[in-house]
Amino acid sequence: MAFHPTATLSPEGHKESWDKLGSEHFDLVIIGGGYIGTELSGFLEGMGVETHLLVRKNRILRKFDPFITDAVTEELEKGGVNIHFNTSSKSFKRVDGGIEITFEDDTTAVFEKVLWVAGVTPNIEGLGLENTKVEVDDRGRIVSDAYECTTEDGVYAIGDVTGKLDLTPVAIRSRPSPVRSPLRREKRRPLGLRQCTDRRLQPSAHGHCGTYLKRRTGKIR
Ligand SMILES: Cc1cc2nc3c(=O)[nH]c(=O)nc-3n(C[C@H](O)[C@H](O)[C@H](O)COP(=O)(O)OP(=O)(O)OC[C@H]3O[C@@H](n4cnc5c(N)ncnc54)[C@H](O)[C@@H]3O)c2cc1C
Repeated sequence: MAFHPTATLSPEGHKESWDKLGSEHFDLVIIGGGYIGTELSGFLEGMGVETHLLVRKNRILRKFDPFITDAVTEELEKGGVNIHFNTSSKSFKRVDGGIEITFEDDTTAVFEKVLWVAGVTPNIEGLGLENTKVEVDDRGRIVSDAYECTTEDGVYAIGDVTGKLDLTPVAIRSRPSPVRSPLRREKRRPLGLRQCTDRRLQPSAHGHCGTYLKRRTGKIR
């Protein structure tokens, strides 16, 4: 499914939607047992939405240690989230009262709303990349090396669009070397998992980059 963040709601639209959650009862199925599906299922259930979580395999958060997965599963179920393991959806159809899902075993169920969180595809259509040497992999992600350089000179790619590690600290800490400091590029170590792990509370990224740069270059009060 394509992810088009530019088409998201305005702040007023968001507020309206969240306000509605408290006053309107509806059922919702979340498709995808990764950390986003898991997090949102607990949150939405807590907001009074009848929440179903569809998980393709027999565990949520499959890359996490089992003792974490077990504890999260237990707490979610205790909170009222209906988790359906080993369940894959095959097709969707809009019907009266919501969306009908047909599962792999040909059974069907109707939910008022569906939230798909089983992966994202970068929104790169229309950028004109086909006119450049920028390589895109078979999952639609822009290929960039450890220094964020793409296969076209002077074009860099950082963050989720590269599919290296879809995490905020990664996007924040990735810096195209030639932009930041051409002379020191050779000395710079590529971004590794160690720098990307949140070892402390993550401050807001807003407004920090400029301050950081000024501090490093000595041009701050
Ligand atoms: C629900 C959810 C929860 C998450 N929780 C966590 C978490 O707890 N911890 C964590 O580390 N990570 C989390 N992530 C992942 C994190 O949000 C991303 O890794 C991070 O935002 C990536 O930053 P980015 O700048 O690469 O992309 P984004 O933050 O997605 O920013 C991309 C920007 O580009 C704009 N854009 C898109 N297409 C175009 C276009 N064609 N032209 C111009 N602009 C365009 C978009 O509007 C957007 O503003 C979560 C993600 C989601 C969806």
